[in-house]
Amino acid sequence: MSIQRVGVFCGSKPGDSPVFLEAAAAFGRALAANKLDLVYGGAHHGLMGAVASAVIEGGGHVIGVVPRGLSRQEFAHPKLSEHHLTDDMYSRKALMAQKADAFIALPGGFGTMDELFDMLTAAQVGLHRKPIGLLDLDGFYAPLLAWISQALARGFIPAGLKELLLVRSDPAELVEALLAHQPPPSDLRWIKD
Ligand code: AMP
Repeated sequence: MSIQRVGVFCGSKPGDSPVFLEAAAAFGRALAANKLDLVYGGAHHGLMGAVASAVIEGGGHVIGVVPRGLSRQEFAHPKLSEHHLTDDMYSRKALMAQKADAFIALPGGFGTMDELFDMLTAAQVGLHRKPIGLLDLDGFYAPLLAWISQALARGFIPAGLKELLLVRSDPAELVEALLAHQPPPSDLRWIKD
């Protein structure tokens, strides 16, 4: 399946270092340079806003999917190409999952983790075969990657599923890896029909 729209999950806050905002903007530029549309939570602040603004400045198409409760004017990016409102957080995640052909997480907090793990779990049970990537900036995800290694080593994540998550620390390299990605064979599915 060719990738046209990339779902991005990332902090609604900027974090504590300019490295995060700079890399989020570089990631947005890499999406636009590769003519990939952005699907994201629609906000204009934090890393979310930095990715979206860079895609827009690069001439790309930006799809914001926002739950009504978060749709206050000051949250929304003013230059979205498409703005979709959903009833709640769950239908927002479902619509983002449906619209995107691949998913990437940048540094973030609870919301980012919720979205990343939802997509990983759905892939694990064979609900989709879309690539999932992690942009690990400034060692931010080292504890998470250590936990994944631990869960693999201790038998809680099947060995074949290690390949589910593409990890890079350079924004352009992650986009390249995403485009070159071959989904794992279907026999890796955790639950078979
Ligand atoms: P967090 O990592 O907790 O900052 O949450 C970021 C993720 O949750 C993003 O990928 C969004 O999809 C969603 N999110 C959190 N806050 C907002 C907001 N104010 N507007 C839209 N989406 C948000």
